[in-house]
Amino acid sequence: MHGNDFRNWSRRAADWGADYRQGLRDRPVRPRTQPGDIAALIETSPPEQAEPMERIFADFEQKIVPGMTHWQHPRFFAYFPANSAPVSVVAEYLVTTMAAQCMLWQTSPAATELETVMIDWLRQALGLRQGFSGVIQDSASSATLAAVLTMRERALSWQGNAKGLAGQRPVRIYSSDQVHTSVDRAIWVSGVGADNHVRIPTAGRWRGIDVDALERAILADRAAGLLPAGIVACVGGTSVGGTDDISAVTALAKREGLYVHVDAAWAGAAMICPEFRHFWAGVDEADSIVFNPHKWLGAQFDCSVQFVRDPESLVKTLAIQPEYLKTHGKDGIVNYSEWSVPLGRRFRALKLWFLLRAHGLEGLRTMIRNHVAWSAALAGRLAEKPGFEIVTEPMLSLFSFRHAPNPGEDADAHNLRLVNEINDDGRIYLTQTRVDGKVAVRFQAGQFEATEADVDAAFDVIVEVAARLGKG
Ligand code: PLP
Repeated sequence: MHGNDFRNWSRRAADWGADYRQGLRDRPVRPRTQPGDIAALIETSPPEQAEPMERIFADFEQKIVPGMTHWQHPRFFAYFPANSAPVSVVAEYLVTTMAAQCMLWQTSPAATELETVMIDWLRQALGLRQGFSGVIQDSASSATLAAVLTMRERALSWQGNAKGLAGQRPVRIYSSDQVHTSVDRAIWVSGVGADNHVRIPTAGRWRGIDVDALERAILADRAAGLLPAGIVACVGGTSVGGTDDISAVTALAKREGLYVHVDAAWAGAAMICPEFRHFWAGVDEADSIVFNPHKWLGAQFDCSVQFVRDPESLVKTLAIQPEYLKTHGKDGIVNYSEWSVPLGRRFRALKLWFLLRAHGLEGLRTMIRNHVAWSAALAGRLAEKPGFEIVTEPMLSLFSFRHAPNPGEDADAHNLRLVNEINDDGRIYLTQTRVDGKVAVRFQAGQFEATEADVDAAFDVIVEVAARLGKG
């Protein structure tokens, strides 16, 4: 790009973005494309000669956008949200324009210092006690990997990185059966191994880990000469919001000398509302906590906050300082690349600063409270509709339901058909899960720009499509 092209195309992109966001309700949430449709529209080899931006931009609009799933659509009720508040888009534009590598304090002092302050703003916002510090990781998966590596190193007296795991006592890590697959992956990648991931069944209203069974498993492992290292606890599991009793888990961990990492990737955002903090009572005693402002809060992906009680353990596990990365002559600085697996880092704190200032905590609390209330109302309306069954009650804004099959029809097949038909319809987007082995439809309300009318629209679509299937 030459001369004023960058300015002009940036303006064009901003105008496109504003129109796109305003017009989202007119688009199907999920595209109606088949595998391979989009790739077939793209040249199979790179161009030898430069192409005009007009043509590139037109191709973006005509070939790419129709094949996108619209994650900012107000009627996206699938998975969990990946909210990108408009103000965080603006901050990200500035970040990508400066395109700084923020791995060391000296490679971007403002980015490092703003990150430290934003972590403390969020600590206060979530009601965590003083003493937690933290880091912004790219994703919860990375934060959980960092925590699992820390558990492993701590249990192995900091010898795992140096000596490897061969010849060591097997390290054991415990979680419920409701944790996200990022926990499985962290356990594989850390070399601990899936066979040493001890999955404890869940019990009770919130499908929390059975703490007595957890204690028995730890004691049995110790007696067998294995090395219990840590527990990954869960607040707001991905499937149906499974939530452990964090007080009980941390008390047990304290008695047994284990490290506790709490995965609150989605539900953590709700803790800005004091009335929801009972879901993670006891969290102040955890060693590490992850929550994703890039899910429900509105900070554009990627932005995953890992709070730690003792940053020394994390840094001891991950820091590496060749001469070319040393900063000489400056005391008291933080180099956040020593707190994470990747070296290079984006400037992620800016979008948090913009978001928190532009909306204020009260604005964000109102959004979250609305989502929780609208979701509960929808569950209530579905429960009263003949043929519908609420399978798991709302945990914050997430619940699951099932629709009764036609005589002789398999219930799982019927509910999968319901999800597919709803998504092909395009007005809303939902996903399914399995609860106790049986298919259930998940619903979560969490879109930054959703209104009560959007949730009402979800009720209409669900009931209408189910009625259609019921006749078949
Ligand atoms: N933990 C939970 C509870 C999740 O729901 C998810 C993703 O949805 C993750 C972890 C992984 O998050 P990320 O995509 O930031 O790695």
